[in-house]
Amino acid sequence: MTTPSAPAAPLDPHAGEDPLRPLEALIIGAGFGGLGMGLRLIQAGVRDFIVVEAEAGVGGTWRVNTYPGAACDVPSSLYSFSFAQKPDWTHTYARQDEIRLYLEDLATRGGLRPHLRLSTRALACAWDEQRALWAVDTDDGRRRWARALVAAAGGLSQPAMPQIDGLDAFGGPCFHTARWDHEVDLRGKRVGVIGTGASAIQVVPAIVDQVAELSLYQRTPPWILRRRDGPRSALLNRLRAAVPALMHAERQARWAAAELRVIGFVHEPRLMRVAQRFAEAHLRDSVPDPALRARLRPPFTFGCKRVLLSNDWYPALQRPNLRLIDRKVLRVERGAVVSAGADGAEERRPLDVLICATGFVAANAVPRFRVEGRGGQTLAAAWARGPEAWHGTLVHGFPNLFLVVGPNTGLGHSSMVLMIEAQLQLILDALRHLQRHRWIEVKAEAQKAENDELQRRLSTTVWAGGCGAWYIAADGRNTTLWPGSTARFARQLRALDTAAVTMG
Ligand code: NAP
Repeated sequence: MTTPSAPAAPLDPHAGEDPLRPLEALIIGAGFGGLGMGLRLIQAGVRDFIVVEAEAGVGGTWRVNTYPGAACDVPSSLYSFSFAQKPDWTHTYARQDEIRLYLEDLATRGGLRPHLRLSTRALACAWDEQRALWAVDTDDGRRRWARALVAAAGGLSQPAMPQIDGLDAFGGPCFHTARWDHEVDLRGKRVGVIGTGASAIQVVPAIVDQVAELSLYQRTPPWILRRRDGPRSALLNRLRAAVPALMHAERQARWAAAELRVIGFVHEPRLMRVAQRFAEAHLRDSVPDPALRARLRPPFTFGCKRVLLSNDWYPALQRPNLRLIDRKVLRVERGAVVSAGADGAEERRPLDVLICATGFVAANAVPRFRVEGRGGQTLAAAWARGPEAWHGTLVHGFPNLFLVVGPNTGLGHSSMVLMIEAQLQLILDALRHLQRHRWIEVKAEAQKAENDELQRRLSTTVWAGGCGAWYIAADGRNTTLWPGSTARFARQLRALDTAAVTMG
């Protein structure tokens, strides 16, 4: 693997605790975003930073989401850092554990370990106007000071439990896919799964043959394309390692192919009808029963919600022990889920285990730690109408705060790692400016102009189709997705536009 190299310099365990000797940067989160930031800092010769991470290890979402069947739906050659490509992915689409190991390995080989403060949760961050420093309080009882705060705690890290009456009263094991309880043996059990999104379509095929009965509660069926996956040949992997140019060319080809899809999502949503035909053919070929097929046909335009990839979802749905329930869930009772039945009746299904594959808080999400900017204003207050940033990274009123995977940085067509890398580049450039300035803050008018433009562009995309996707905030704005190519995003973030910021 091509990795950044750095000596593992010992770092003072009390680094940053003295406000007279602050850290250059404090990074929150050790997933792709936070690790990537740390690696880029080391490459740039910055040593004076730490990464705090609430979990006991690195990996972020790829450490936490351990549900059966968890894998990435973006090819690994593209879902990895451009500066740390891996020739020997075992499959075209890597499984969760392999991605976690990739990140663990990167942390070690990239010299990041001395900078990590694991099992350390950020509780509150406050901007100290006079010192021009961030004070960050963590659950180890320490306060650390840093010139720059990089919040890389994940765009999809807050599980959303469904708002269903009686959920707390279920009595038996009941957990979210992102908090999988491995102590629970599903073999021979009556299991309920709520949700049919990206997590559910991986979980259900992985467990359906173990359980006695699987009751699948579907509110909205998703569009699903075939997944062109398979083991990668060991011989080709050796060739990729021997000739890295080959690996880089393969990544470029994947990137270009993915990039083209933005035309349908963003510029010409009518083109999505063509892609929809592939998904319709997949459904038709996989589900012979027309009545079941009708229940599995999504009621919205292809692409409005995330397009899913699976070869085993439709076969799983036709297993004799799986029952698809597509009427409204009314309530949860002790050991059962009650849904609307035929002719106004209710249907009560006794269950031993209830799994919520119900997604994450995203469009209205604020960091779980308190962030207090200029004049004591919190990020939660600034984002009361919904999250908003400039380049998804800087927020007016919050000097020297940099978000990774901030508002409007999500994608429907390509790899989030590309967006993260673009943000890291912008942050590095901002940190270079901070060598000569105490603080950098985006101007209110620059942030507003960019967001007006973003919302204007988003209004004609496929996501504006009113399908109720999690991309949309309470006030109707799409606060999660980037309406453009990854190339355009990277171009805009290559260097800090000093006309858009104030520096002091
Ligand atoms: P999701 O796509 O938001 O799906 C949640 C599912 O739960 C939906 O089917 C939703 O129905 C249903 N639901 C929510 N509340 C419900 C309720 N009260 N009653 C009945 N059904 C309810 O969540 P996810 O599957 O965890 O995926 C979220 C995102 O994580 C993905 O879009 C993707 O970005 C990421 N992810 C990626 C991968 C990967 O392979 N890279 C894998 C998993 C997740 P409605 O559609 O009707 O709202």
